[in-house]
Amino acid sequence: MMQTVLSSTLDSLNTSVRNNWTLAEVETLFALPFNDLMFQAQTIHRQHFNANEVQVSTLLSIKTGACPEDCKYCSQSARNKTNLEKERLLEVEKVLEAAQKAKAMGSTRFCMGAAWRNPKARDMPVVLDMIKGVKALGLESCMTLGMLDEDQAQQLQDAGLDYYNHNLDTSPEHYNQIITTRTYQDRLDTLDHVRTAGMKVCSGGIVGLGESAVDRASLLVQLANLPKQPESVPINMLVKVEGTPLADVDDLESFDFIRCIAVARIMMPESHVRLSAGRSAMNEQMQALCFLAGANSIFYGCKLLTAENPETDKDTQLFKKLGINTETIIDDSTEQDKDLKTSLVNEQHKELFYDAAH
Ligand code: SF4
Repeated sequence: MMQTVLSSTLDSLNTSVRNNWTLAEVETLFALPFNDLMFQAQTIHRQHFNANEVQVSTLLSIKTGACPEDCKYCSQSARNKTNLEKERLLEVEKVLEAAQKAKAMGSTRFCMGAAWRNPKARDMPVVLDMIKGVKALGLESCMTLGMLDEDQAQQLQDAGLDYYNHNLDTSPEHYNQIITTRTYQDRLDTLDHVRTAGMKVCSGGIVGLGESAVDRASLLVQLANLPKQPESVPINMLVKVEGTPLADVDDLESFDFIRCIAVARIMMPESHVRLSAGRSAMNEQMQALCFLAGANSIFYGCKLLTAENPETDKDTQLFKKLGINTETIIDDSTEQDKDLKTSLVNEQHKELFYDAAH
């Protein structure tokens, strides 16, 4: 009987984008036998993406620490007693130097993060110059600066910002256990301003915050049922930082994390699902299972804001072992562009990655 129910769930899986997921449906996906779930996720992944391609971004903290918000997991909150070294907003030239390096290492997107509740009027001209500089280098640009009002979102869009990152963090039900200085609705409002201004949305969450399995399903329901699904969905594994209230929370079982990636892939088939914070604690085999589950984006480089990220060289070696190429930024809307993209990716695999690993 159980087998019949599961088979019919598998058969009825719709591979197109839907914004009407119910919690019960998502719980059913989480309850599938691991192999069935992975097979479904990989099947859907292949319908929408090149299964051996991963998009690579670099993330730079442009303003570190002393954040007034009270996110219980975060080393940058002024309320948490961590040993983080604070830094003022970086100068534009320094940011552009880092962007140039990121490009040379194979990143296609440069993400800039500031530990703010929201950007102040005096910060806006500086961040707008950063965006213009990064765009002039031929990179995609992404920022995460906290909450935005409509006008700020429009200014970022006008400067050419491609993506804005603003995570929902966890389920609405678990949210108050994690942060009290901004509401879930504040977050949804910022995402709405980003969309209205015309930018792409990067929004995901963190698992391992002491949430329940239902919370993880509920977070994914929130993300998938946004009026338009985020183009990029980071799924972070909590990096426990001493001095934060979540320093001693129980570890999340690795398979639960992989299941989250797979369910996110099934629910958001056209989004890049990003294997994000927490990757340095994952061995190569676990990362490979995450790619099999449909993760197709990573952060590259040694620092992920203030949490550790595997050394770039280790990533290139893992990609080599798995035969993974990195995505290039080419509009592949025509057959000719598709061919060009394929040949560039092949070249890149031969030259950039194989040489970089030496
Ligand atoms: S997660 Fe962001 S908003 Fe929250 S404390 Fe850290 S830097 Fe501030």
